Amino acid sequence: MVRLNAPLPGKPAKATYGAISRLGVFGGTFDPPHIGHLILADEARSQLALDHILWVLTPNPPHKGDHSISPLEVRTSLLQAAIQDQPYFSLSTVDIDRPPPHYAVDTIRLIKSQFPEASIFYLIGGDSLRDLPKWHAPRELLDLCPTLGVMRRPDDQVDILTLESLLPGISTRIQWINAPLLEISATSIRAKLKSGQSFQYYLHPAVYRLICDKHWYQGEA
Ligand code: ATP
Repeated sequence: MVRLNAPLPGKPAKATYGAISRLGVFGGTFDPPHIGHLILADEARSQLALDHILWVLTPNPPHKGDHSISPLEVRTSLLQAAIQDQPYFSLSTVDIDRPPPHYAVDTIRLIKSQFPEASIFYLIGGDSLRDLPKWHAPRELLDLCPTLGVMRRPDDQVDILTLESLLPGISTRIQWINAPLLEISATSIRAKLKSGQSFQYYLHPAVYRLICDKHWYQGEA
């Protein structure tokens, strides 16, 4: 059991950690954060009995070289707005505070050094699970995270046999999060913004307000 009375270096002021033995880690680009992310994290917290979830904002994910990502300040403000209601969510700047490449395995190593006694539950969508064998050092990542909390996505094409052949033992680490399939992605929300379609209810109200007030994403791909 870990008990921290003061925020960790690089943590937002609001983050005060109580006893944490089951720690969720949820990484993403969050460009923008949407209700699919919030539902995944909150269902994981409840179904996996997590004490806390760190939302790890990745400045430049190694696997997303194909589209231009919004400035870090924009995504940080939006993510803070998205998670502000929940004391059991906090933003981790662990990837922001270090130079690239931001491989998940290194992120988890750093978080483990901050929470040495906590069990790490790595939270991902089904598409990320499918792609995990292609990530940097996936075996080491699995060794650091006893459990993967996975929420399916429509058309994520998760094939456990293939995964198991590439990463033996992975299927015993997966805990499926029971939730409806949500056909929501940051890509589709950016596309709606660009083409002037309605997008309000895909987002936390505070995220929606910020995007409208600051005119973020409009006119982008
Ligand atoms: P983009 O469309 O820009 O690729 P995204 O919506 O997939 O973005 P990310 O920030 O890349 O969002 O996702 C962070 C994590 O959340 C990933 O593990 C991803 O699989 C998961 N995730 C995102 N949206 C959903 C969803 N609708 N259902 C389940 N998991 C999701």
